[in-house]
Amino acid sequence: SGLIVSFGEMLIDFVPTVSGVSLAEAPGFLKAPGGAPANVAIAVTRLGGKAAFVGKLGDDEFGHMLAGILKKNNVIADGINFDQGARTALAFVTLRSDGEREFMFYRNPSADMLLKPEELNLELIRSAKVFHYGSISLIVEPCRSAHLKAMQVARDAGALLSYDPNLRLPLWPSPEEAREQILSIWNQADLIKVSDVELEFLTGSDKIDDASAMSLWHPNLKLLLVTLGEKGCNYYTKNFRGHVDAYHVNAIDTTGAGDSFVGALLCKLVDDHSLIEDEGRLREVLKYANACGAITTTKKGAIPALPAHPEVLSIMNAK
Ligand code: ATP
Repeated sequence: SGLIVSFGEMLIDFVPTVSGVSLAEAPGFLKAPGGAPANVAIAVTRLGGKAAFVGKLGDDEFGHMLAGILKKNNVIADGINFDQGARTALAFVTLRSDGEREFMFYRNPSADMLLKPEELNLELIRSAKVFHYGSISLIVEPCRSAHLKAMQVARDAGALLSYDPNLRLPLWPSPEEAREQILSIWNQADLIKVSDVELEFLTGSDKIDDASAMSLWHPNLKLLLVTLGEKGCNYYTKNFRGHVDAYHVNAIDTTGAGDSFVGALLCKLVDDHSLIEDEGRLREVLKYANACGAITTTKKGAIPALPAHPEVLSIMNAK
């Protein structure tokens, strides 16, 4: 099957060993490897697809640990660079008892932000059938220029461009800057996935309806998806729009659900771009992606919770 190249950050989340505490109260932390683009690459390979990750890690124990996780999961690692000076990015994350997520990032700068355009593995990027990315890699130079170059090279080589902004407001200088930069590459994507929260943020509207989603439409876009957590997802194409319900599961940790959803979608799309034009087949694929997202919420962490194909079939058949 065709290659999906996922570009951006990979890092370690440190999550408290007990739930419902503030970062200061946490008695200890567990390492949870993540970073949305890395999660997407692993989501793809776990489902049987072919994926590569492009990004930079620190030349430290954590960086090599993360590269090892990608390799163990059959993700092609030829696009990974190691920075000699900066550390692998870390984030301390907790879900407080009031339900709010609290983040503390160690990126001052971290290795992922230091990827240079001239360090890109262009041969690998040119072999992509789908090139996937987020917006965290747009925040600072030189990674921003590397991101823009990689997109250009992938597109010139005929790849489908897939964009999941994955808004992390605390990483941006201001909300205005985040919105402006996220939208600055909007019109280049063939496929865009946003969450309900991102839709509200980007449109400035407090409604998650068709009109606000369509205000994000651009003429070259082929598919826009709005994920709605336990409510499933909405889809928009040039010719049709609709909704696909989620699966009912006992969600314990939603981390990575969106990445699992995207990985599943890209897996199906990579060898058959035309399914976007067939509403019946697209709905089948979105059911599959919803099932992947749902399964991912039933286990702690992102990467350990990404499903393999047989698990997805079993929840789909159980319904
Ligand atoms: P992330 O938490 O990774 O940032 P996201 O906000 O990008 O996720 P979500 O909308 O939370 O994306 O989830 C993606 C998909 O996963 C949803 O469209 C849905 O199909 C499935 N999903 C997420 N949460 C649940 C849930 N609680 N129950 C069932 N399915 C879910």
